[in-house]
Amino acid sequence: MGINVTKSYLPPMEEYVGYLAGIWERAHLTNAGPLVVELEKSLKEYLGVKHLFFVNNGTIALQIALKALDLKGEILTTPFSYVATTSSIVWEGSVPVFVDIDPQTLCIDPNLLEAAITPQTVAIMATHVYGNPCNVEAIAEVAQRHGLRVIYDAAHAFGVTYKDNSVLNYGDISTLSFHATKLFHTVEGGAIVTDNDELAHKISYMRNFGHNGPEAFWGVGVNGKSSEFHAAMGLCVLPRVDELIRRRRELSERYDALLAGTGVRRPQLQEHTTRYNYSYYPTVMPSEQALLAVRDALNAADIIPRRYFYPSLNTLEYTGQQSAPVSEDISTRALCLPLYYELLDEEVDTICRVIKSVMEAQPAVASAQQLSLG
Ligand SMILES: *Cc1c(COP(=O)(O)O)cnc(C)c1O
Repeated sequence: MGINVTKSYLPPMEEYVGYLAGIWERAHLTNAGPLVVELEKSLKEYLGVKHLFFVNNGTIALQIALKALDLKGEILTTPFSYVATTSSIVWEGSVPVFVDIDPQTLCIDPNLLEAAITPQTVAIMATHVYGNPCNVEAIAEVAQRHGLRVIYDAAHAFGVTYKDNSVLNYGDISTLSFHATKLFHTVEGGAIVTDNDELAHKISYMRNFGHNGPEAFWGVGVNGKSSEFHAAMGLCVLPRVDELIRRRRELSERYDALLAGTGVRRPQLQEHTTRYNYSYYPTVMPSEQALLAVRDALNAADIIPRRYFYPSLNTLEYTGQQSAPVSEDISTRALCLPLYYELLDEEVDTICRVIKSVMEAQPAVASAQQLSLG
C-alpha cells in the first residue's frame, strides 16, 4: 500500500463501540446530546478557551462566524490557505481582498494590511497556516486602529499556544476544523471559539436554527449542530492528541535532519510560539520545476505528497484577479510531505532518499529567485 500525505488516526474500535452502547441506550442521537456536551467541556479545558461550540464542519464554523459578527463588505484575507477561507467570505456575500503573505512564516503580512483598507473594509480573516500562528499582536493593533473585526481560521492550529496562551484566544472569533484529515478529528466537524459572552450567545442560537425554546426564536439561524456519533469519535481521539503531536514532532525532526543541505526549505515558526502542533510537514522547493520532479519521483514510488496550498486563492476565477506575488510564488513551490501518527521512521528515510536524489539532479537555481525560509 502506498504512503499518502496523511492518514486519519483511528482509536481502538472497542472504545468507540463502548460509546455506541450508550447512544443506543439513550436513543438521543443529536441536538445537544450528552456526548456533545461532554466533548465541548473537554475541548474547552484542553484548549484553554472560554466558549466553544462544536459544529458539523469547519466551513460552517467560518460562515457562522461571519454571520455572528454581521459582516458585509470587504474582508482582508490571506491568499495562502485552503479554499474554504475565501469561499466562505464569498458565500456569505462579502468581498475577499487579498493581502500578501510574509515569505518566512507564510501567514498574512501585517505590514501590508493598512494599504488595503478602504471605507468598505469591515474585517480581517487570517489563517494560522500549517498551525503557524499569525503575527496576532500586529494584526490586533491594525484592527483596533481601524475598528475592524478579526476572525482567525484556526483549522490547522489545534493545541497551538502563543506566549503560553491558546492562539484561539486572539481575535473576535477563531474557528477550527475537525475533519478526518486534521490533527484532532471527529470524522467531520469543527468548532467556533470566542471569549465574548454576547457573541457566544448569538453563535449558540445561530447554530441551532435560531431556536430559543421549542416555539421561540432569537433570530435567523442555520443547522450547524453535530451528532453523538461524531462527538464519540472526538472523545476517543482527544485523550491521545498529546501522543499524536509527540510522534509527529519526532517524525518532523527526522525529516529536518535528513533534508538539511538539500535545498528544500521550511517555513519559519512565528516568534513566541510556545507550543507547535506539527499538523503538517510543509516544504518549499527551490522552483516549481523541482517541485514537479520531486512529486513525480515520489509518485513513482507510490508516495503521494500534496500541493498545499495551490493555486494561490487570489487567482480563483470568482474572486477577480488581485495581485499577491509572494503567495503566487510560494504556492507553486510548496509541497506537504506525508506526516501522520502511523508513519514509520523507515518511510521518512525512503521519502528523503527519493527527494535527495531528485535535488542532486536539479540544475542550480539563481539565488535571486530564492526566498529565505529558515
Ligand atoms: C480543512 C480546512 C477548512 C475546512 O474545514 P472542513 O471541516 O473541511 O469544512 C477551512 N480552512 C482551512 C484552512 C482548512 O484547512
